[in-house]
Amino acid sequence: MSTYIFGHTTPDSDSIVGALSLSYLKNQLGEDTTPTRQGDITPETAFILERFGYKAPELKTSFAGEDVYLIDFSDIAQSPKDIKEANILGIVDHHKLGDITTSSPLECWIRPVGCSNTIVKQMFDYHGIEIPKNLAGMMMCAILSDTVLFKSPTCTKEDTKACKELAQIAQIEDYQALGMEMFIVKSDVLSSSPRELITRDFKDFIMGGNTIGVGQLEVVDLSVFDDMKDELMKDMAKFKEEGSRHTILLLLTDIMKIGSQLLVISDDNKKIEDALGVSLKDGEVWLDGVMSRKKQIIPFLEKRFL
Ligand code: MG
Ligand code: MG
Ligand code: MG
Repeated sequence: MSTYIFGHTTPDSDSIVGALSLSYLKNQLGEDTTPTRQGDITPETAFILERFGYKAPELKTSFAGEDVYLIDFSDIAQSPKDIKEANILGIVDHHKLGDITTSSPLECWIRPVGCSNTIVKQMFDYHGIEIPKNLAGMMMCAILSDTVLFKSPTCTKEDTKACKELAQIAQIEDYQALGMEMFIVKSDVLSSSPRELITRDFKDFIMGGNTIGVGQLEVVDLSVFDDMKDELMKDMAKFKEEGSRHTILLLLTDIMKIGSQLLVISDDNKKIEDALGVSLKDGEVWLDGVMSRKKQIIPFLEKRFL
């Protein structure tokens, strides 16, 4: 029976590429594993897969009775519904430790770096396994995506080192240019509905019994949202009610200006203002220097909500 490897719900490039890279490594080590995904792939991930000639992993959302490895998450809220009935063999992740527990000992590679694929690269090195050229290219793109071209405060020396080594294996000289091309693909938001945009990179967190959803869109120029903001806010309110959420936040991140326009729909705007130390105007505020949901938003919300 094959062991399944998958990333979080509403998968990003790190989750998809991570399932593929970790599965390749595990198979080289003699295990029988299959990469899967919990949801649709984003335009950015489609660009990466096509550039390096890979197919998306198969969609699978139920894992009762199966052996699994998790990559890029350890939160129940980002898991398949029946995760408690799966047998978790291991976790590879770079987020805060979530609320998933196991009944058996597990292999755990959790590091405070900018990308899960940086850790997978270190696992390849640890085991002395060679990385195929095109897989290396995809892992490099996942690192450039998660670290926002090394600009995110989550980016570490280990990420830049892994990225450069992967670029060499992939024989890509100008990896920054390829990264920029990827972010330009990511910035094409005009052809998507408000709901597609809100949920494209969206995570629910349970904090003190409240569900707080936080989405993020990273673009090269925030003006693409100018004519869209009212509709986004309206649909955020709808999406909040549908999921019985306390709050929905949407970070519109400008990767050139290095900061985010935060949109807030909440049962308690005051609490969000307190948590982040800001004052909202019409449910919005510019957060200078804020690029990272996991490092610059979630910890402050958790402190205020617990
Ligand atoms: Mg991710
Ligand atoms: Mg990641
Ligand atoms: Mg991200």
